[in-house]
Amino acid sequence: MKAFNFFKFGHTALGLPIHGYSWNSDNSSFAKVLILGGVHGDEPEGIVAAKGLIENFRNHFNLNLNLTIVPEFNPEGMLLKTRGNSNKVDLNRNLPTKDWSPIAATERYNPGPKALSEIENSFLVDWIKKEKPDVIYSLHSWKPMLNTNGDLPEAAVIAKHTGYIIEPDIGYPTPGSLGTYAGLENKIPTLTYEIERDISFDQVIKIHVPAIIEGLKISQNRKK
Ligand SMILES: [Zn+2]
Repeated sequence: MKAFNFFKFGHTALGLPIHGYSWNSDNSSFAKVLILGGVHGDEPEGIVAAKGLIENFRNHFNLNLNLTIVPEFNPEGMLLKTRGNSNKVDLNRNLPTKDWSPIAATERYNPGPKALSEIENSFLVDWIKKEKPDVIYSLHSWKPMLNTNGDLPEAAVIAKHTGYIIEPDIGYPTPGSLGTYAGLENKIPTLTYEIERDISFDQVIKIHVPAIIEGLKISQNRKK
């Protein structure tokens, strides 16, 4: 049996809800997958892809997975059209990694006053600790690339579908990022999926929603 659940994943400092959508089976051997969109508010492509997935699964979900999608993880940044949240903190530099540092590479990558200072990330860390996902997809936009932290056969299938390169190392350290926190330190394979910035939303739906679904089919093999 599959049960669909629309729920409150958390909220922002200003009280905006962060919504989650999940499809859960009572088959506990199914792998658990988390998909995040909109970690950076100025990267609408990832939000569009996450919403495209939700729309795709709205009436029909036939994957042997327990899937949770949080399409707008940073609703303040989304509404303000900024990378960070209303505190101007980059949520993908604020997670409690061993190498977290209060020194920002540039203002754009503001890690916050301390690790896990931002409430959005507290909800994310609590969820990860409680639910123990088997794989995480985080949907961003930048140079087209599949940045992998951990063993991710999903990336090969997505690369085939999109022509995107697979990059285990993006070339500079990312303390406080989800790839470092979940992928490297907590051994939860994490795919940071960089959709090409500024392609049309229509292209995101046509190319990347099916590509992610192909990846999810591979994630089914992570059965316990
Ligand atoms: Zn991003």
